[in-house]
Amino acid sequence: MTDDMHPCAAEHCTTQIPRHLLMCPGDWALVPRAIQGRVVRTYQNLSRDGWGPYADAIADARQAVAQAQGGKK
Ligand SMILES: [Zn+2]
Repeated sequence: MTDDMHPCAAEHCTTQIPRHLLMCPGDWALVPRAIQGRVVRTYQNLSRDGWGPYADAIADARQAVAQAQGGKK
């Protein structure tokens, strides 16, 4: 169980999470549903569509988290 962890994808977050998750639950909750859906969908289609669409979705998710956190502080 320890070899399959990676840091949360959100900026400034070092929480270690399982490999199949993109972000820790706290940060993931800040990502709008539409973007969450894109992340999940592009991840499922990785083998077909490659990393491009997935990387785009991740970039949008990270930006959404940064904006949500910036707005809160
Ligand atoms: Zn996080």
